[in-house]
Amino acid sequence: MSVDSVTRSQSAKLGFDPDALREKYRQERDKRIRTDGNDQYLEAAGDFGRYLDDPYVKPGFTREALSEEVEVAIIGGGFSGLLAGARLREAGVDSVRVIETGSDFGGTWYWNRYPGAQCDIESYIYLPLLEELDYIPQEKYAYRPEIQAHSQAIGRHYDLYRNALFQTQMTEMHWDEAAARWILSTNHGDRLRARFVCMAIGPLSRPKLPGIPGLASFAGNSFHTSRWDYAYTGGDADGNLTGLRDKRVGVIGTGATAVQCTPHLGEAAQHLYVFQRTPSSIDERGNRPTDPEWVKSLKPGWQQHRIDNFSILVSGGFQEVDLVGDGWTDIIRNLSGLAASGELGGSPEELAAQVELADFRKMEQIRARVDALVSDPTTAEALKPYYRQFCKRPCFHDDYLPTFERANVTLVDTQGKGVERITENAVVVDGKAYQLDCLIYATGFEVGTDYTRRAGCEIFGRDGLSLHSKWADQVSTFHGLLSRGFPNCFFMGGIQSGITPNFTELYNEQSQHIAYIVAQGLAREARTIETSQEAEADWVRTIQASTFATGNFQSDCTPGYYNNEGKPGEGPGWFGGNFGGGAQDFFKILREWRAKGDLEGLEVVSSPGY
Ligand code: NDP
Repeated sequence: MSVDSVTRSQSAKLGFDPDALREKYRQERDKRIRTDGNDQYLEAAGDFGRYLDDPYVKPGFTREALSEEVEVAIIGGGFSGLLAGARLREAGVDSVRVIETGSDFGGTWYWNRYPGAQCDIESYIYLPLLEELDYIPQEKYAYRPEIQAHSQAIGRHYDLYRNALFQTQMTEMHWDEAAARWILSTNHGDRLRARFVCMAIGPLSRPKLPGIPGLASFAGNSFHTSRWDYAYTGGDADGNLTGLRDKRVGVIGTGATAVQCTPHLGEAAQHLYVFQRTPSSIDERGNRPTDPEWVKSLKPGWQQHRIDNFSILVSGGFQEVDLVGDGWTDIIRNLSGLAASGELGGSPEELAAQVELADFRKMEQIRARVDALVSDPTTAEALKPYYRQFCKRPCFHDDYLPTFERANVTLVDTQGKGVERITENAVVVDGKAYQLDCLIYATGFEVGTDYTRRAGCEIFGRDGLSLHSKWADQVSTFHGLLSRGFPNCFFMGGIQSGITPNFTELYNEQSQHIAYIVAQGLAREARTIETSQEAEADWVRTIQASTFATGNFQSDCTPGYYNNEGKPGEGPGWFGGNFGGGAQDFFKILREWRAKGDLEGLEVVSSPGY
């Protein structure tokens, strides 16, 4: 059967026209494509540096500068840093020091305290080390306070509070060849020496601001969602934002963050304006308390088993049972439906057409859900996403769409153009000024910019080579973790790695890999461990080949951080190149590499006493 005839027969059955949808998706993408890509955003620095200030601590924290040595310095105290610390401890490494900008562990879950913040990945697979800590989350989808509390529990369980330096920002890191140590400088004047460094800065840690003309002129209160100003809004993680009762509030952005905080803003504000450039796809949330009977049924090893089950399914693999069974795996259930009908399979082109069809069907459900929940037809149409499901981060919420039924909430659809300008007291769209007391930026995080800009510190490797210049045109790593010229340094977080929506799964795999290499290094009295030129070049070629394989899907997508703002595969950022073979195959490569035990591709220089 030809691709066209497959599409036609399915079309009749499904009740929509795939060609018309494909054309509509193209038109919607074209409206949003911009030549400036990532440059459309403003860096939260200089005059805009205040948007990064920590509102959760008293200002003016100081302490004595330190001058000490440590075996492993971990930069970042979110889940990647915590997992690295945990796995290093398990490998017997005692001398570990976490350096963290926030005043506690938590990373994303320290900063993003906006009302309603919740993780969209099922808590039983997202919260790491549940069996190690003997903890079961309270609900299928956990809210921020529980997640941060779990971060703190990991910190305590693995004794990572000992030596941790909070409210400390790295300012520079350089490799001292003679001493074979990294020298770490911080904003408190510290000068720390570390044999190994583990960069665990997180992929979404640096807030970004939209480059909207006039942004600096706004005289009302304004803040980024990751620095929520509760002193102004009142309330807490559960909402009750009583400070907004007499306020006209604007929120710019309609991504995963806005979807969660908008219902609370709608409930509280005198009037809420939601400024939309691209609507998100909003599927059902369906949260529920943890069933104690299910907990009793769990056998040792249950968490890794569940993580693997989800990961295999979302990578397109087969599993007898879908243990998590939610919106992330739904697209796979759609495909299984096609397979059961005997219509899935054939040539790669036919398979791609079937996958596209399943995607259309899923997105038709998402669009129908908007009609079911939003009664004004113009508002409902504006809230419908016209792109393939994984072009943007899928969202799940039961209260977001109904918020637009409220009389005090207005959706301002910018038709893909974005906000026109900001004045002293208003946001302007299509020449119309919306007067505001408070403007909230739910505009996300830097993803496609330089690694060192996102880390907030420059890294100088051997012979003064800066990471910024080495990666300026092309990120270059071995297994996404090591980069030549930067010995004894690991980069966690997804660069040139297999990506999964369940980030903590990736961090767990990476941290086991790092702990293995560090333990090997210590056992071999290694002065340096560094990737060989050849191994790194091979890995970069692997990444490039697999990125090309996913290139068409990404280029056809509406712009967003998933496709580097419409420029897939380019630039130094997180999505500048990933392992296109999927997370499961990537983890297999790491595990098999470790099992061989010969550190293939690494140059180890041993020197007793170092
Ligand atoms: P996003 O980058 O996903 O969203 C930013 C929003 O700002 C988009 O809607 C974007 O529109 C909009 N925007 C940017 N510039 C303008 C402009 N000039 N005018 C109008 N609108 C503009 O950030 P989020 O903080 O929402 O989410 C970031 C990531 O964090 C998520 O993708 C997810 O991975 C994670 N997250 C997870 C959560 C969870 O598990 N529940 C919750 C929150 C976040 P456009 O789409 O057109 O670019």
